[in-house]
Order: sequence, then structure tokens, then C-alpha cells
Amino acid sequence: MIKGPLIFEGNEKQVFATDHPDQVIFRYKDVTVAYNNVKRARFKGKGALDNQISAILLDYLNRNGVETHFIQILGEQEQLCRKIEIIPLQVVVHNRMAGSLAARLGVAEGFRHSNTIVDLRYNVDELEDPLINRDHAVALGIASYQELDGMYDNARRVNTLLKELFHKAGIELVDMKIEFGRAADTGAIIISDEISPDTCRLWDEATGERLDKDRFRLDLSRVVESYRNVLNRLKKVTGE
Ligand code: 5GP
Repeated sequence: MIKGPLIFEGNEKQVFATDHPDQVIFRYKDVTVAYNNVKRARFKGKGALDNQISAILLDYLNRNGVETHFIQILGEQEQLCRKIEIIPLQVVVHNRMAGSLAARLGVAEGFRHSNTIVDLRYNVDELEDPLINRDHAVALGIASYQELDGMYDNARRVNTLLKELFHKAGIELVDMKIEFGRAADTGAIIISDEISPDTCRLWDEATGERLDKDRFRLDLSRVVESYRNVLNRLKKVTGE
């Protein structure tokens, strides 16, 4: 595999072309941002942890019948992925209400509910990722109703699989954000971005301690240590 030129630079990630037309290299940076890029910091070692955690979770999904862009780890901060065409949506799954959802509905952080909630957001930084519904997404030409049904079903399946995996690691999956893309090789709609403590709320089941990006958002310190804790626990339960 030959690494080609940089084709995309995000806040927390770089994407490089390869000598294979349908494959790219994702490089996780040590940078972290929050609140739509208003808050930013550098944490040495965080990129490598996100890379490894995301690899474990995406590989687990691939092996359990949910197609993702992940192919293999290449190095400390890099992984080989299938190339996709971005679908500008965020599918956010909630098992408990926290963060912006709890604030929006005026309930306490961690409010328990028995159903699973799936939200849709239009992934546009300048608009601050507004909440939309299926009709908006179809009206904007982003996806068809049938494709959206597929994404909702997939998001729920991902949630079921990862909730169970995290539970084995003594971690509660409170909520998470998933992105999808159209695979360049087959055209299938697949999971196309990282899944990590940057994109999930993860609470220690025993203590309630936050082990995710909220440590940075809320200035709780020990960001890298918490991500390492998540990785070590996942390694134990997946045998990696
Ligand atoms: P909230 O709406 O409370 O900010 O986020 C809900 C869940 O989705 C959290 O797990 C959060 O980490 C994730 N999430 C929502 N929007 C984004 C985003 O733009 N970037 C990242 N990395 N995660 C997000």
C-alpha cells in the first residue's frame, strides 16, 4: 500500500489517497475540538488511542454484519479505510438523555428512558449541525426515504451491538453519533467515520465517571488517561 497525497484535512483527522482507487488512509491527530470548533486543545497520545479504539469497534461491527469503512490498522495513528462519498448527516442514538438533548428537553443529565431515541442532524458546521427530520433530508436530496430507513435500522443495530460490548467492559453507552457514506467500491451505504470516546458518551457503570470527550468539554481533566482506560477494557473483552 503506497500512501498518496493528503485529500482532506479535518480538525481531528487527515485523509490520504493511496495507490488503490477505492481505499484511503485515515490519520487521527492529537488535536481535539468541541462546541463546533470553539474549544480546541492538543493531547499527546490521543490520536493513537482513538485510532485503536475505533479500529476495535469498527472491526467488531464488520464481523457482526454491519458494514463499515474500516479495513485494517496501519500504524499508531493510521488505519486503512474504504473510500466513501460523504452523506452529510449525523445519526445520533440516545440510550439516556444527556448533553444537548437533556438541555433541550429540560431534563436532568442522565435522565433514564426505556425506549431508544434516534435523532438526525444536518452535518454542516456553519449551521451548527441543526436537528432535521427525514422529510428535510429527502427534500435536500441527501438520501431517499428507503436509504434513511436503512441508516436508522443500521444505527439501532450498531447501538445494540456496542451497548452489549461496552457493558461487558463495565461501561454504559449513553449516546453516540454515527455517520454514513456511500462506498466507492460497491455503492453500499456504510458506516464511514470513527466510533470512539470522541463520538460517544461512555460512563463507568460502577462509578458513573465520564470516560469520553465530555472530560475535555467540561474541563474534567485526565482526558488521555480515560481514553486509555476505555481501550484497555475493550482489549480485555475482545481479546485483542
Ligand atoms: P450532543 O448533542 O449532546 O452534543 O451529542 C450527543 C452525542 O453525539 C455525544 O455522544 C457526542 O459525542 C456525539 N456528537 C454529536 N455531535 C457531534 C459532533 O459534531 N462531533 C462529534 N465528535 N461527536 C458528536
